[in-house]
Amino acid sequence: MNHPIACACGRTHVVPIEAVVVAEDALTQLQHFMEVRGFQRILLVADVNTFPVLGQAALGVLARGRHSVPVQVFPESHDLRPDEEAVSTIRAAIHTADVEVAVAVGSGVINDVVRYATDCAQIPYVAVPTAPSMDGYASAVAAMQFQGVKVTFPAHAPIGIFAQPHVLAEAPAAMVRSGFGDLMGKVIALADWKLAHRLYGEYFCEFSYQLMYDAMQAGVRQVTGLQAQDPEAIGGLFRGLIVSGLAMAFVGNSRPASGSEHHCSHYWDFLAYSGQRAHTAHGLQVGYATQWVMDLYRVLTTLPTLRRPVMPVLDGSWEESMAKEYGAGAPAVIAQQQEKRRWLTERTAFWAPDMGGLITALQPEWQAFDEIEQALDRLGMPHQPGAFGIPPDMLAQTLEHAHELRSRYTILDCLSGQGRRTESIQQILGVL
Ligand SMILES: [Zn+2]
Ligand SMILES: [Zn+2]
Repeated sequence: MNHPIACACGRTHVVPIEAVVVAEDALTQLQHFMEVRGFQRILLVADVNTFPVLGQAALGVLARGRHSVPVQVFPESHDLRPDEEAVSTIRAAIHTADVEVAVAVGSGVINDVVRYATDCAQIPYVAVPTAPSMDGYASAVAAMQFQGVKVTFPAHAPIGIFAQPHVLAEAPAAMVRSGFGDLMGKVIALADWKLAHRLYGEYFCEFSYQLMYDAMQAGVRQVTGLQAQDPEAIGGLFRGLIVSGLAMAFVGNSRPASGSEHHCSHYWDFLAYSGQRAHTAHGLQVGYATQWVMDLYRVLTTLPTLRRPVMPVLDGSWEESMAKEYGAGAPAVIAQQQEKRRWLTERTAFWAPDMGGLITALQPEWQAFDEIEQALDRLGMPHQPGAFGIPPDMLAQTLEHAHELRSRYTILDCLSGQGRRTESIQQILGVL
């Protein structure tokens, strides 16, 4: 790995990860990797769930290799957040033990926190995944939640990923469903990317696109095996999630893996943070949102033409309403919206509303919609308003407001620019 790829998109892509190991002897290989790299002091980070599952074993193997391995185990079992407190805990542990590298034993939040904290401290880290529950293992961005608002920061990818297939296969079914939901969400992320590319000339990499599309399709084919918790199928899902991280690393941001479906999930995270609903796993939210956004894309295809979009008005009363809605998180949200408006203004010259061409370009996504819907259904993903503590009015509110959380252009902005967002949401929710 690690060699540069000269791409037709004009950029050179680099695989940032030195080793990806999915094997039963992954921990032995991890210890060997640390030895070859000459690391003496290693911080092992886990939580109360992942330490007994894999952290203890990793500690044993690393200690046998005579590395010094201080351990940080978060006491939270389910509600560890990637917030300011978790980051300062890890930064303090890095500083106190003067470690050269960290090992993140766990899945989503543990990885985001360790990725962010090690990037700040300028030391590398290694991921030891415990579940195929999300696509961030290979990613170079950290999804943090500061002051309640999910913000994605550029950080670094792990230098190595070491996973044991039997551990992944023993992950709870809900975590597998979550990983599957995250992977199926790519159909929207990719469609949103194409939308921004076709309408506004946003940078697009066919190679990264295809890599992600193929990983998503391979995931759909695993659904029968995943229902049976078959280790091979779960390994396949895990590889798809790793590929997703690589595509993000190639492009330098999460564009190929995260669009309006993720923005809905971020909105629900904010509602959970502010006590308006209970928290749900990331990939479950993404998979659930994907189904609604697929319906919005179906509405988009019925529009005969696209007219010159109406620009969002970001005036004083808008800022006031943002402050009311997001509280301490409002400045981050306002900045994202101002950035999006700037982007839209700068890109006006690129505006190219060729509806026929757009529909042709989006064929691969549209053709996948039905199969993805069925696959999510077979894995037990609900598809009706009211699931995951999101009643119909909150769902409508989500689809209305999720675009506020990111500067990235998606179908939600597209429908908004056409003056069709509210009407389309009402249409898919059966209000009209
Ligand atoms: Zn995700
Ligand atoms: Zn490229």
